[in-house]
Amino acid sequence: MLIVMKQDATPEEISGVVSIIAAMGYEARPMPGRQRTTVGLVGNDGRVDSSTIAGLSGVAEIIHVSKPYKQVSREWQLEPTRIPLPDGTVVGDREVVVMAGPCSVESEEQILAAARLVKAAGATVLRGGAFKPRSSPYSFQGLGRRGLELLDLARQETGLLIVTEAMDLDGLELVAETADIIQVGARSMQNYPLLKECGRLRKPILLKRGLAATITELLLSAEYILAAGNPNVILCERGIRSFDPTTRNLFDIAAIAVVHGLSHLPIVADPSHGTGHRDMVPAMARAAVAAGADGLLVEVHPNPERALSDGGQSLYPEQFDKMMREVAAIAEVIGRSLATVGTVV
Ligand code: PEP
Ligand code: MN
Repeated sequence: MLIVMKQDATPEEISGVVSIIAAMGYEARPMPGRQRTTVGLVGNDGRVDSSTIAGLSGVAEIIHVSKPYKQVSREWQLEPTRIPLPDGTVVGDREVVVMAGPCSVESEEQILAAARLVKAAGATVLRGGAFKPRSSPYSFQGLGRRGLELLDLARQETGLLIVTEAMDLDGLELVAETADIIQVGARSMQNYPLLKECGRLRKPILLKRGLAATITELLLSAEYILAAGNPNVILCERGIRSFDPTTRNLFDIAAIAVVHGLSHLPIVADPSHGTGHRDMVPAMARAAVAAGADGLLVEVHPNPERALSDGGQSLYPEQFDKMMREVAAIAEVIGRSLATVGTVV
């Protein structure tokens, strides 16, 4: 960390900064310049509260030299993290893993129909929320425990893996019994007790970007999970809040390239919540795969007009089928392929 002093900072203000840094247990290196002095803080282990130093008398600004996250960064680990799934497929390698299904589990008939159709189109993971974080308390909240049982039934019938959301600590234990991948939703990205508990598990965690979270904040949330002991984190770009209501969220496709530069963790894309309109989803799914996404999370419903949540952004079965053929072709162009069950790790 570099502490840039004001041009008119007095020698007392400079020595004040130096002695406070020393009292914190770090080394302070004043570097007098022609116009101003900069003080280097050496040995920052991440515990230094920069706002405290920024508020000291005579300080103009703080420049951060190293990133606030550590274990999730490419500097910590150069090789991409590969997350093996129970069916032998891997997230974060050559394969693009497609996770698809309805927003919510609604009934046995609905989830089984969804599972059959996404499997027929080539997906290997079934999505569907049993516990739903809804903006309104009057909206459908999910089937809860019964939803998990139905997901398990769909897995038994189709062999698809299951990704489903845990919203809180009690739910996490329950969800972990059924899910192959545990989703932490956008609204929970900064639920730190939940993140810490996810860190005590070994199952892969799908961590979705918060509604208005920066990429640094997303990576810091992932850091909580790694720091608590679980290296199996899959990041998810699902769009961020913007000023323009044309799309539900602003699908930040650049985040895929940015995250791949900054972190070794895999990142999948959710063009459904990213756009909010089914007719925009295939185009953004194609773009995400072209941009290097390690997987897709897509909402598909056997009968979107009857959906209890997110019907307008859920693909019709035939749309999904076409999208799968298109993204498979794009994956091939960039030396990848869609994950298929039975691939040996
Ligand atoms: C979902 O996946 O259905 C969901 C609620 O997503 P998000 O947390 O990204 O809004
Ligand atoms: Mn949804």
